Amino acid sequence: MKVLSVASEAVPLVKTGGLADVVGALPGALAPHGVEMTTLLPGYPSVLAALGGRRAKVLHTWDALLGTPARLLAGTLPDGHPLLVLDAPALYAREGAPYTDAAGIDWADNWQRFAALGKAAADIAGGAILKRGKPQGFDLVHAHDWQAAMAPAYLRYVPLGAARCRSVITIHNMAFQGWFAPEVFDRIELPQSAWALDGVEYHGGLGMLKAGLSSADAITTVSPTYAREIRSSAFGMGLEGLIVERGAAVHGILNGIDANVWNPASDTALAAPYSHRTLEKRRAGKRALEAEFGLDEGDGPIFIVVSRLTWQKGMDVLPEVLDHLVGSGGRLALLGSGDAALERALIDGAARYPGRIGIRIDYDEGLSHRMQAGGDAILIPSRFEPCGLTQLYGLAYGCVPVVARTGGLADTVIDANPAALAAGCATGIQFDGVNYDALAAAITRTVQLHAQPEIWERIQKNGMKSDFSWEASGKAYADLYATLTA
Ligand code: ADP
Repeated sequence: MKVLSVASEAVPLVKTGGLADVVGALPGALAPHGVEMTTLLPGYPSVLAALGGRRAKVLHTWDALLGTPARLLAGTLPDGHPLLVLDAPALYAREGAPYTDAAGIDWADNWQRFAALGKAAADIAGGAILKRGKPQGFDLVHAHDWQAAMAPAYLRYVPLGAARCRSVITIHNMAFQGWFAPEVFDRIELPQSAWALDGVEYHGGLGMLKAGLSSADAITTVSPTYAREIRSSAFGMGLEGLIVERGAAVHGILNGIDANVWNPASDTALAAPYSHRTLEKRRAGKRALEAEFGLDEGDGPIFIVVSRLTWQKGMDVLPEVLDHLVGSGGRLALLGSGDAALERALIDGAARYPGRIGIRIDYDEGLSHRMQAGGDAILIPSRFEPCGLTQLYGLAYGCVPVVARTGGLADTVIDANPAALAAGCATGIQFDGVNYDALAAAITRTVQLHAQPEIWERIQKNGMKSDFSWEASGKAYADLYATLTA
């Protein structure tokens, strides 16, 4: 089966969050199940650079893809899986982040940048690539998030080629929906019939995620709990009605982690690799972390945070609990960036506790690995969390997750309640609600458990031995594709 995976980011070429980890890992996860997955990405400077510039093989040319010249370039991802790059300089060849300029303002032409990505995907799936004069289509298009969500809409409203290509859309985060003013509809080359309640129209404008959700043959999201949660207004963010209506087509499939990248025994970012059999080697990682964050040396627990600094991640509550965290004997090492006001509050909080709290406002992949290896517990107080990856990395690295009981966090961490401790299967700490009391109580529980080395080590080892590989989830996706194309 040939599947075209369409997304706006993929590791290691371009990443702003967990979406990139998942898109980068999927081809490898699907290959053992008979699925050949090709990834289509926008031609951002970093992606073109990885292809060796614009000299790559040209597979197709558009004189005007939604009004702008574009070419389709062929390449491979570093792990050898096929890559297609949409080289449209007017849309993607610019400095800044994938969705925003250097000042953090959304690019004004995002509607065009990502409608073009969807249109190109539909053209490709319909056979735009010719090999010895024969169109090379795909059996299925797998679109990720709003940036790729127009692909299923173009497949639905502008059918190309003989065979109907099926489509799946995965919601990695319902909070980002890609809404644009109604005027853009006239410029995205969809028939007037698409401007409908069950089409692309959403609150009087163009809703890209909504378009994908109403057009795709199947909808997936990245954990079973989040698949249930988005049926309610608290989590569906306006799209809950559509999710309920399409209930039979909605599936929750947990993300896995890429063991080539996240494995403490072979992690090249670590000075002292280790496994669950050599846990004592984590001590060196802890000392290194203390040095890197200017923390006092000590045996008490180091909490880490590796996160976007946003309301979703509960980062507004964190400054409030710093006194309690330090008062309980904990220390904190935080790496993140995001809302300026939250960054400020955390920096101010840290200034009050030199040697106890270290803050790095930055995005640093290598440091994030060293933190998982040197920290004792990773704090994740998310208000909602479609899947979450940092708790999985924490589990794999023996950095015990302390998580809000929501979405994928609820599905992947076994709370150290008395029953789980008695059964010897606990892997972390869960708490209900994201507020001062809940977070402070969870920190207290963590410190108390950490003070009992045997129990703590058991919790660490349980996590490290858990299977969060892509094996089961790769099969779940392959089974879904098979059902849709049967
Ligand atoms: P989300 O995609 O909502 O941000 P996830 O937990 O699914 O949350 O994925 C976040 C990914 O981004 C993880 O791989 C995490 O390690 C990484 N990450 C987040 N913030 C930083 C940072 N400041 N530096 C390095 N990596 C980060």
